[in-house]
Amino acid sequence: MPTLQTTTVRCSFCAKDEKDIAQIIAGPGIYICNECVQLCNEILAGSAPDHAPAELPELPYWQSMSDEQMLDLLPKIAGVADQVETGLGTWVTRLRDRGVTWSRIGTALGMTRQSAWGRFSGEE
Ligand SMILES: [Zn+2]
Repeated sequence: MPTLQTTTVRCSFCAKDEKDIAQIIAGPGIYICNECVQLCNEILAGSAPDHAPAELPELPYWQSMSDEQMLDLLPKIAGVADQVETGLGTWVTRLRDRGVTWSRIGTALGMTRQSAWGRFSGEE
């Protein structure tokens, strides 16, 4: 598993902390736990090939959650967002290490060279 600058790795789907799950798989800036993989497999096994995307369930099932459960989840979702931002920064750093210009990085992200530099360079 790649080393992150954040202290905690969270599943990008259920927002559980890595210490509360058995296994976690890394993608580019995102993670998925074994429990979510299993649930996804169950959903995929039960769905028809022509299943419309709008009919697919959203994880977690917020409609059945209490306000307190949703409030408890908010900081975890924010942690996932921070994790994705850190992963994005790592990819930008790798591109800069390859000599890719801030202009090209900005274009790829739909922003100006100056905006990309300001967001990712770490310089003032
Ligand atoms: Zn998960």
